[in-house]
Amino acid sequence: MAITETVHSEEEFIFDKSITCPACGEPFKTKILKSSKARRIGSDADLRPRYAHIDTLKYGVCSCPNCGYSAVHSVFSHVVGRQIENIQQEVCARFVPEDRSSWKSYSYDQAIRLHELALRCSQAKPAKDGEKAYLHLLLAWLIREKSVQADEIADTEVREAEKESCEKQADEHYLQAFEGFERAMMNELFPIMGLNQFTMEYMMAYMAFYFGKMEVAAKLLGSVLTNKSASRHIKDNALDLKDEIIRQLKQKKQA
Ligand SMILES: [Zn+2]
Repeated sequence: MAITETVHSEEEFIFDKSITCPACGEPFKTKILKSSKARRIGSDADLRPRYAHIDTLKYGVCSCPNCGYSAVHSVFSHVVGRQIENIQQEVCARFVPEDRSSWKSYSYDQAIRLHELALRCSQAKPAKDGEKAYLHLLLAWLIREKSVQADEIADTEVREAEKESCEKQADEHYLQAFEGFERAMMNELFPIMGLNQFTMEYMMAYMAFYFGKMEVAAKLLGSVLTNKSASRHIKDNALDLKDEIIRQLKQKKQA
């Protein structure tokens, strides 16, 4: 007997919500995740979330197809007076209205485009460092995933060029995220874009490690590991990363 596996599409986990744009006043439909429908299966070492059958990160921003104003869902409606004027001048004035009615679920290119618009709006606003850094982080994660998808490209030359370009862009956003969060941690109150202090410190430790800033990473990990309020899950991640840093430092000494 043949075993049939149910094939899931991302459309099952999202729905269209009607919303009015605070920048242009036009109504439009945005894609939202159905709450509790998608099942979390884990996260990467830098806490990038992973869900079964859907990459939920693609649906992180709300974007008006009429004027281009875009932002993470939690802040989309919280934009006022002068900020709207700045966004209209910097982003909307150059935006050509788009018909996105055929977008059933988002491809990586579509999701990246919407996040890039949100980043430009956050820069125009101007938003706090935490909000801008968060968008850089989402873009780094999305573009890195686009690079993984490029493995499917048959032509070697095209594939390698695509992967190299994606990895370069992802690293640039990752660095911007790291530097932006560094400023946010000094000047803003937690939670920053929904991230509590220990989650942020662990994530920053991983990013510091990624960029070879071992002392910064060690200091942040120390803060996570000695704090009684940090969760077991975050402490376990921190211990794993600490081991990895020690292993790499030993290797360097031997080399
Ligand atoms: Zn609009």
